[in-house]
Formats: sequence, structure tokens, C-alpha cells
Amino acid sequence: MSVLSERVVALLAEFVDGLDDAPAARVELPEGLATALGRPPPEQPTELPALLDTVRQAAQVAVETAGPRFFGYIPGGGLFASALAELLAQTLNRYTGLSEIAAGLVALEDGVLRWLCRLFGLPPGAGGLLTTGGSMATLSMLVAARQDRLGDGAGCGATVGTIYISDQTNHCVRKAARIAGFPATQLRALSTTAELRIDVEAAEATIAADRAAGMRPFLLVATAGTTSAGVIDPLADLAALARRHGMWYHVDACYGGFFQLTERGRARLAGIEQADSISLDPHKSLFLPYGTGALLVRKVSALVAAHTDDADYLHDLHGGALPDFAHLGAELTRGNRGLRLWLPLHLHGVHAFRAALDEKLDLAHWAHTELSADGRLEVPYPCELSTVLFRLRRGDDSDGDNGTFLRRINATGRVFLSSTRLRGRLTLRLCVLSHRTHAGHVHEAVSVIRQVAESIT
Ligand SMILES: *Cc1c(COP(=O)(O)O)cnc(C)c1O
Repeated sequence: MSVLSERVVALLAEFVDGLDDAPAARVELPEGLATALGRPPPEQPTELPALLDTVRQAAQVAVETAGPRFFGYIPGGGLFASALAELLAQTLNRYTGLSEIAAGLVALEDGVLRWLCRLFGLPPGAGGLLTTGGSMATLSMLVAARQDRLGDGAGCGATVGTIYISDQTNHCVRKAARIAGFPATQLRALSTTAELRIDVEAAEATIAADRAAGMRPFLLVATAGTTSAGVIDPLADLAALARRHGMWYHVDACYGGFFQLTERGRARLAGIEQADSISLDPHKSLFLPYGTGALLVRKVSALVAAHTDDADYLHDLHGGALPDFAHLGAELTRGNRGLRLWLPLHLHGVHAFRAALDEKLDLAHWAHTELSADGRLEVPYPCELSTVLFRLRRGDDSDGDNGTFLRRINATGRVFLSSTRLRGRLTLRLCVLSHRTHAGHVHEAVSVIRQVAESIT
């Protein structure tokens, strides 16, 4: 074990040491390599060094999402402490679906969840589940909300339960609704204001009209940090609206949630404590590697009601004070995800996360100010969290020119950015959210953007 893991760690140390100088993206998969990677497993064993070499080559063909110059999409980085936790979890291989089988590690995971519930001001009786990501958290939330507000067998078809999102909501909500059996006609995309926030008055009018027409509005989804623009919906006003209509109120905080650890973030997320449920992505704003999401539910009994079931082969197990995670979500056998959060949080301390998130707020704010001051650029939206949106000021073929702008920026190999469509217009986005991204990297990104803008205009 020691020899094998030393080899793996040596590869990883070299990888992490090289991140600062690595190209921002290498996306072409050479044909020969693709063939080699797709080979079936052999009958006879292979030595580990040869296999690690294959892994190294395979990993190289990628957008460098672990590196400090990844500004393209929201998740990135990946704390090494979390990888160590994963090694522990997978070697210990405790079954954490039912608490009696591994009470110790279930207690540890439960401790992380209770800390999260307190962080967001949820009352006693709240609880939750660690998932593989925000999409799975959203699916469990949606079926819990349906069960809680519409009851058994309702919601699809006859009783016409309706779900309210906005034109900026992450598409995982639509996907979850479809998987749960809701036709598209039972989803309402509420309009947003000029600042891309849900228009509360318009929402009230839509919901009232639907009720008058015999539908049953049961779920309102607000976002604390939209994926496209990092915008926060009016969380407290929407909580009041949901309450007036007896609707389940979900706050999608997959991107913005952990900014709650900072003073500025907590002020901007005010109202989130009134949610019936909150989805979070530790693999975004807590810098963890891909594969960790969380769902918090104000009344955890609603989550249990939607997911629990009996089975003859489980009759030996009676449960106790600790949660049985298998009864809170879709999975019976699940990875032990608690350690992935627990180890980095305890090893580094919460202050380190707060400081890193504050740094990202500062860096994004700085980039927003710098780009706003550049006469060649239009910076159409404020920067509430860590996403900065911008585009070239252009006339007729604005989208075409901005597409070229993005391609040329990424072609430098120094940074990786992406674009989105806002109000139908192609807009570039710079998202600062890796624990490895510091001032020098953001300065370089802004300087690359300026140089490319200069070469086009
Ligand atoms: C990323 C994201 C999601 C989806 O989460 P995954 O972890 O990618 O499944 C949902 N909502 C928002 C606002 C997001 O940014």
C-alpha cells in the first residue's frame, strides 16, 4: 500500500507543482492516444508505473480546471485534503446508508450537515443529505416538495401542480422536473428585472392567475448566485411570496451558498434562512473536487416522507438518533461523502475558507472595476459575487465579434474563459472561484483581455 500510494502521490505532487505554468487548456485528443485509452482490460496484470503514465497522458487532454487560470465555469480547483479524505473513505469502506452499520462515520457526516444547517440559520428539525452535486440535490428537493405540498400521486397530470423558476434558473431544475414526471407546461419561467432578478410583482401576478385557473402552484425556486451572471434573487421577498401562497420555497445556492461564511456574502444572502430547502455545491464555493453537493431541508421529515420505503432484507435494522441517509435520497448504497468536507474543514479551519472566499470577492470586484474602466468594453451587470460579465462594444455583428474575442483570449493559452447569452446577447464571463487563483492570475487575465481587445478594435 505504501509503495503504491507513494507512486500516486509523486505523480500528483508533480501535477500540482506544474499547475501555475500549465497551459489553460489542451483539448485535442490525439487519435493514437484515444485508441490506447479505450483498450479493454488485459487478462494479465500491468505494472502501476505504466498505468500511471496512461493516466497522466489522459489527464493532460483537458481544460485545466484544477489550475489557477480557470475562469470559465464555476467549479474548479479541488482541495487535496478532500482527495486524502476520499482515500480514507474508500479504503475504510464504511456503509453509511443506514446508521446502524457505521454509526461513527454517520455521526461525523451528520455533524457536517448540522453545521451547515446552523450556518444557514435553519431551525432544529432541519437536516439534509450530501449528494454528488447540485443536480441530484435538486431532484431530491423536488420530489420532497411534491410529496409535502401535493401528497401521494398528485402533481403530475390531473391536479396540475406548477413549479416556478426564472429565465435565469439553472437548467437542473427543469431536468429534475422532467425526470420526476412533470411536463414542461407545468413549469413557469418567471420574468426577471433589468438586473436579472426575479420580478416579485410579476411573479405574484403569475401565481395568482394560475391559482385562479385551477392549477396548484407548489414550488418556488429562487437562486442565490445564478450560473450565468452570479445574480442573487430577492430572497426575503420571494420567501414571503411563497408563504402567502403556501408554496415550498427552495433557494438554489449551488454557486453562491458558501459566501455565507463571509460578512459581505451573509448580508447579500439575507432571507436564505427562510427557505424550506437549500441546495449547495461544496465542489464550487467550498473548493472541493467534483462530486460533492448538498441538500438542506428545513423539515427533514419531508425528505424522509418522500424517499423512505420498507424492505424485507432491511428488517434487522431499526435506526436510532442518527439519520439513515438511504431514507433521505434516491441511493441505497452510497459513497461516504462526509469525510470529504470534514477533513478539509477541520484540517484547515473555517477561517481559511472564509479568507479564501473574501479574497475571491475582492479579486472579482477588482476585475469588474478594471474592465468597467476600459472604454472598449461594456460591463453590463454589477458583480455581486465572483462573476464578471463583459463584451466588446460593437454595432451590428456584436455576437460574431465577441465570439472571436473569446476564441482569441482562450487561444493565448494563459486563461480559460467562457461565454453565456444574456437577454439574447453573447457575453463573456470571468468567474473567480478557485482556491489556487490569486491576485497575479486575475491581473494576468485582465491584461490578456485588454491586449486582445486592443488587437481587435
Ligand atoms: C452548478 C449549478 C447547479 C447544478 O449543480 P451540479 O453540481 O453541477 O449538478 C445548480 N444551480 C446552480 C446555480 C449552479 O451554479
